[in-house]
Amino acid sequence: MTSLRTRERLVGRLVEQGITDSRVLEVMRTTPRHLFLDEAMAHRAYEDTSLPIGFQQTLSRPYIVARMTELLLAAGPLSRVLEVGSGSGYQTAILAQLVDQVWSVERIRPLLTKARQRLRQLRLRNVDLRHADGTMGWEGAGPFDGIISTAAPEHIPEELLQQLAPGGRLVIPVGGDSQQLQVVIRGDEGFDVQVIEAVHFVPLRPGTVK
Ligand code: SAH
Repeated sequence: MTSLRTRERLVGRLVEQGITDSRVLEVMRTTPRHLFLDEAMAHRAYEDTSLPIGFQQTLSRPYIVARMTELLLAAGPLSRVLEVGSGSGYQTAILAQLVDQVWSVERIRPLLTKARQRLRQLRLRNVDLRHADGTMGWEGAGPFDGIISTAAPEHIPEELLQQLAPGGRLVIPVGGDSQQLQVVIRGDEGFDVQVIEAVHFVPLRPGTVK
């Protein structure tokens, strides 16, 4: 079976699971998820499961990627988006096709190097990648009208809230052993927090790894 047909099945499952945003479904239909995995894992790329990418990190399952992207875009198109945790670069690639510009930070350098190659291969040029500690956001590139974190802090880092533009949205898993996906919206008088659903992400860790 070609990978396009396999992805069409994947999109069918996403619809069954409640994903409704047609822009998100379309980029997940066309983006080659297998290119973001090492050869030994690539044959499992279109299963509805998270997959190892090395360094004890994982590429989230397709439902979670779709859900977080849909939540980020729920109030309309976005121009400037920060991603914390580039990992394989797959979520970055999805975002790059839906917003004007993506900044993405990763603390593990070898993961970032591979993500950069894959994004280049797909000719996604509206992405800036940086080897850095994402708990600090990306000072100088913000404020962002969307921020997405694919690693979970115990508490939301203050810097991420500060780098959110007025009206901006932060989609982030929060917690330790038990985590909740949250959407934080910067309003005129503070932050509005919506709790979406229970999730399980790798932890957001401070510092960087060479
Ligand atoms: N979006 C990724 C998911 C990777 S898992 C993908 O689509 O593949 C989460 C990633 O967050 C891991 O690669 C991990 O190294 C990274 N991470 C954890 N803490 C971080 C931090 N403080 N700054 C930047 N990246 C971090």
